[in-house]
Amino acid sequence: MSSSRRKCKYSSDLFCYICGIYILKKQKRNITDFVKETYAEYFGFKMDKLDKSWVPNKVCKSCVESLRLWKKGERSGLDFGIPMIWMEPKNHVDDCYFCVVDAKGFNRNQTWRYPDLQSTKCPVLHSETLPRPVYVSKVIRMPSETMMLPNSQESKQSTSGSEWEGETSTPKLFSQNELSDLIRDLNLSKQESELLASRLKEKNLLAPTVTITTYRTRESELLQFFDENEGLVYCTDIAKLLLDMGLKEYKPTEWRLFIDSCKRSLKCVLLHNGNKFASIPIALHSTKLKEEYENVKLVLEKIKYSEHQWPICVDLKMVNFLLGQQSGYTKYPCFLCMWDSRAKQLHWEQDVWPARNSLTVGKANVIREPLVNRDKIILPPLHIKLGMIKQFVKALDKEGDCFKYICRKFPKLSMEKLKGGIFDGPQIRQLIKDADFIKVMTVPESEAWESFVLVVENFLGNHKAPNYEEIVQNMLTNFQTLGANMSIKLHYLRNHLDKFPDNLGNYSEEQGERFHQDLKVMEERYQGRWDCHMMADYCWSLKRDCPRKNY
Ligand SMILES: [Zn+2]
Ligand SMILES: [Zn+2]
Ligand SMILES: [Zn+2]
Repeated sequence: MSSSRRKCKYSSDLFCYICGIYILKKQKRNITDFVKETYAEYFGFKMDKLDKSWVPNKVCKSCVESLRLWKKGERSGLDFGIPMIWMEPKNHVDDCYFCVVDAKGFNRNQTWRYPDLQSTKCPVLHSETLPRPVYVSKVIRMPSETMMLPNSQESKQSTSGSEWEGETSTPKLFSQNELSDLIRDLNLSKQESELLASRLKEKNLLAPTVTITTYRTRESELLQFFDENEGLVYCTDIAKLLLDMGLKEYKPTEWRLFIDSCKRSLKCVLLHNGNKFASIPIALHSTKLKEEYENVKLVLEKIKYSEHQWPICVDLKMVNFLLGQQSGYTKYPCFLCMWDSRAKQLHWEQDVWPARNSLTVGKANVIREPLVNRDKIILPPLHIKLGMIKQFVKALDKEGDCFKYICRKFPKLSMEKLKGGIFDGPQIRQLIKDADFIKVMTVPESEAWESFVLVVENFLGNHKAPNYEEIVQNMLTNFQTLGANMSIKLHYLRNHLDKFPDNLGNYSEEQGERFHQDLKVMEERYQGRWDCHMMADYCWSLKRDCPRKNY
């Protein structure tokens, strides 16, 4: 805007800096030092940006007279306690005051119609919460300050440097969108939102058009995209929901489906492949009415998985359900080959296993019709990581220093978990960061551990080293030397490295972990009651109304 010096429909000097109203010829006054001084005394901040083309350099007689009489103590002042606020317009089409207003035939007996623009904020009338200021003459005002400083003129200048000058001097009122985004950033409930909004309103920090009660039903706009059925809450139109939430374009290939299942619930979440956007919940099942396979089947139907065909990132237990495999410790758990989990003596010896050509019901531990195409399955990096540490810890000498060190480091973990090598992502990160950990290890232990860390850093994270295959193979060799067992997860690393997506960092579950955290807050807020309102409200909290980094 600043570069394009296009002429506006009206010259900015046809309007009053203070009230913003079109000035009739005879009413026009210059902005004198007296006007500037009294303005600051009345409103509490200085006139600024007078050098900008988009700020009027004139005032109207009515404003000047009101201020003059107020200072003399003869009148109570202006009608408004916050004057017209000027900001740089974005364009001349719909954001420029001097192009948008209609002053044709205007006279002082008419009410001035302020356009609703982002670049201007119209005056705010005095009210109980915005009382009229009382003029206090400088002689009696703040005697201590006047005494400390040589003269009041200088005192004013010294303040101006810190508080009064520049952009921050004028209160910038919150627009509805700005307030909504703030509420989202603060993660406030509906009640808290209303409270914040009304407090800001009391201080006159809200634009006049802002409504407070809208937060009571803030989810209503997104409610149309959700439906409920037998304890299942789900999104009926994912593409439209995402577009409504501000996504420019919806491409199914840019998202992956994350399904999380625990004893109490089943959650389907869309994760963005670059993790650029927040996770979007698309289905929640709060009770387990049916068997897991049936549940997953119903959910996939409801969210119309077949139309979207997102890649699926889930733990291996869920992979079993999705592909109709028998769960538990089965002979043929791999969905890609005929790896025999029970042929322990062959695990480290046999390099190639016959491929599984198809998943056929009734054959090799496949007991039901697969629900999704197995090509869509992404092996989940976190679960692979958990599987590796499990085998590492299980192989440790339980009387050795290394295992004892782990026990001391996680005193709250049960011996059962410690011996079983059951850790979570953050705990693994803690161990990796611990420089002392390696000092208590034997040579095979440290070789296995260091090569594990290398795999985490060069393969399972954001960075995939060119020689990642070598790094993974090296780790497996070290695990073998340590005496670790081959599990299905290690098998995937050993035999199906090509099935891991190119950039595993993009598929990091840390986002999933964060989502869990967010959802917890939501569950508490809605007291465990999962319904369309909760889902819509959650999605509302992910939106951004003002253009910023994400939405
Ligand atoms: Zn203009
Ligand atoms: Zn005026
Ligand atoms: Zn396999």
